[in-house]
Amino acid sequence: EPMIRLSGVGKTYDDGTVAVQEVDLDVAAGEMVCLVGPSGCGKSTTLKMINRLIEPTTGRIFLDGQDVTDADPVELRRGIGYVIQQVGLFPHQRIINNVMTVPLLYGESKATARERARELLDTVGLDPDQYADRYPHQLSGGQRQRVGVARALAANPPVLLMDEPFGAVDPVVRTRLQDEFMRLQRDLGKTVVLVTHDIDEAVRMGNRVAIFAAGGRLAQYATPTELLAR
Ligand code: ADP
Ligand code: ADP
Repeated sequence: EPMIRLSGVGKTYDDGTVAVQEVDLDVAAGEMVCLVGPSGCGKSTTLKMINRLIEPTTGRIFLDGQDVTDADPVELRRGIGYVIQQVGLFPHQRIINNVMTVPLLYGESKATARERARELLDTVGLDPDQYADRYPHQLSGGQRQRVGVARALAANPPVLLMDEPFGAVDPVVRTRLQDEFMRLQRDLGKTVVLVTHDIDEAVRMGNRVAIFAAGGRLAQYATPTELLAR
């Protein structure tokens, strides 16, 4: 049974925009799937339907066998980390507090939350001794993305959804973040759905690549090897 299953999923926005049509997509546990395609072809909409930031108009979505429509949205999102390009760290809170927010929210003690946050900073390659007490504006764009990943990992979700997570950083940093994230994803065994408009990034990172086309249709769903053989 797949960790994530989209079955006949479509989304037409209230203004009549047809964003996604008839998407069937299975993501196995521990797999990284990249959604790729030109701007406006429904990638972000598809991603946001998985954690119910957007409700599908048609079709059904299952997480670990459960229809997400039947899940309590708060519980659902606890099991799904979400990382976007504009990470949205709290600017007036230190890095450690930005990462601690989630464990505190879920009732951890302050000491445990702090310890967990420091471990997570370490996991994403930020030395806690050096960075924990800084403020977001004192970090580079790439470092802020790392904090975003740490925060998304804080509830220890089995699934991570990522929308252009490396889009805002320069190419050299991006390659390093991609490599590090691939290693981290494998080590932690996370199931990841990652949106990108960059086919090179998709082929490099994805165990499978879902190519979206105009009109929000899924044109191809294949492994990088299969794609390159065509
Ligand atoms: P939903 O049907 O999922 O509730 P809505 O159609 O109500 O979504 O739109 C949600 C928000 O997105 C609204 O505030 C709307 O103004 C805004 N929005 C409208 N058109 C676009 C667009 N083309 N791209 C991004 N956001 C849009
Ligand atoms: P992508 O992530 O591939 O760039 P999106 O999922 O953001 O594509 O958008 C798919 C289509 O839906 C686009 O035509 C976009 O303008 C439209 N769209 C996105 N959000 C909304 C919204 N809230 N209301 C109406 N149209 C939207």
